[in-house]
Amino acid sequence: MLRKIVAFHQDEEHHWVAALDCGHAQHTRHDPPFFPRPWVLNKDSRANHIGTSLDCVRCDRQEIPEDYVAYRRTPTFTSETTPIGLRRHHSTKSGVWGVINVLKGQLRYRIHEPYHCEVILDQHTKGIVLPEVEHEVEPQNNAEFYIEFWHREEKADDLTPNNLA
Ligand SMILES: [Zn+2]
Repeated sequence: MLRKIVAFHQDEEHHWVAALDCGHAQHTRHDPPFFPRPWVLNKDSRANHIGTSLDCVRCDRQEIPEDYVAYRRTPTFTSETTPIGLRRHHSTKSGVWGVINVLKGQLRYRIHEPYHCEVILDQHTKGIVLPEVEHEVEPQNNAEFYIEFWHREEKADDLTPNNLA
């Protein structure tokens, strides 16, 4: 699915890599003749590409970014206590992934745009929630479940005084 470029950095070989708002990264190397991207070599034209979209196949494969960690979880919900908000279209915010863990019973998990699919989750099948992708759940057979939220852990080094304000 299409994800927005939020930043650029260089890998060990000095090839340019775009950081996407889903948490994934994608090479945007200038590699003629097959991948001519002369713009990536220039600071101003890189800046102009911030906010433009790239197709992210790692999102399509529902891969949680490798450097992500679980940082929060919901209480365990039953069919009686499932918040109405989870049963209707809703989504996590930019850069936040979710994992739906079913402890008992089954959960019907519907993913809307752009995937339009429905899966039945149980003890053996976890549901992956993609950032900003609308979805809803419907507990069945006395389901019990909780949702874990994952994000990129900030390293102590990243905490400049501005970030701490
Ligand atoms: Zn992605």
